[in-house]
Amino acid sequence: MRILVSNDDGILAQGIRTLANTLHRAGHTVTVVCPDRERSATGHALTMHKPLRAEAVENLFEPGLAAWAINGTPSDSVKLGLDALLGERPDLVVSGINCGANLGSDVLYSGTVSAAMEGTIEGLPSIAVSLASRSRCDFQPAADFLVRFVRALEVQPLPEAFLLNVNVPALPESEILGARVCRLGMRRYRDQFVKRVDPRGVNYYWLAGEVIESEEAPDSDVVAVGEGCIAITPLKYDLTYEPGIGLLGARQWEKIFGPLAGG
Ligand code: MN
Repeated sequence: MRILVSNDDGILAQGIRTLANTLHRAGHTVTVVCPDRERSATGHALTMHKPLRAEAVENLFEPGLAAWAINGTPSDSVKLGLDALLGERPDLVVSGINCGANLGSDVLYSGTVSAAMEGTIEGLPSIAVSLASRSRCDFQPAADFLVRFVRALEVQPLPEAFLLNVNVPALPESEILGARVCRLGMRRYRDQFVKRVDPRGVNYYWLAGEVIESEEAPDSDVVAVGEGCIAITPLKYDLTYEPGIGLLGARQWEKIFGPLAGG
């Protein structure tokens, strides 16, 4: 397969190196297009008010693997890759392997997920991969799983393009209990901002916080990873809340706004 690989941890991150090299060794044609530095938690931001530069990267990846570092965001990278840098349209976009989980509401902030979502927006099947640990960073088990997963999708392609958000527990391969199809759970954080005083006596705030346990549906991605399973969550960019349409539709909006067009 022709695979566009991106991330949000930047070109120097071990996660993208392990991912791209492992896919390359498995026989895929891999092109890396990703930010030139860490751009975690930049969501789906695009660079619009300055030019983008693409620097060809030599010697960071295995020979035969093309790589570009972009002075922009994860979304910029995939957009630019698809539109300008890759000679041919890839079969698949893979983003990661992120250092740290992207579960539940994390996906809204995640550059890793946004890079993959850019592929989905362009009609390509896309995978975001994250390792659920910030300290223990052996990316190889997650990369090996991904090779098997990509092979399975190659043999039996999905009937439509959507995003597969994959979170791998940070365990040795022998201790991972399998993979589970999930829905997004909830990730809530306590003490989000630490307030301190700078050397000039002025307050500053630093986003921190730790995850707090919340009620989780048994099929949530948070639960799966907590139990030692790989979580595979299908995502689409349509954020429409279906029950909301009925809840709003039941109200008499014409009394507030006058007759609605088409209504
Ligand atoms: Mn990241």
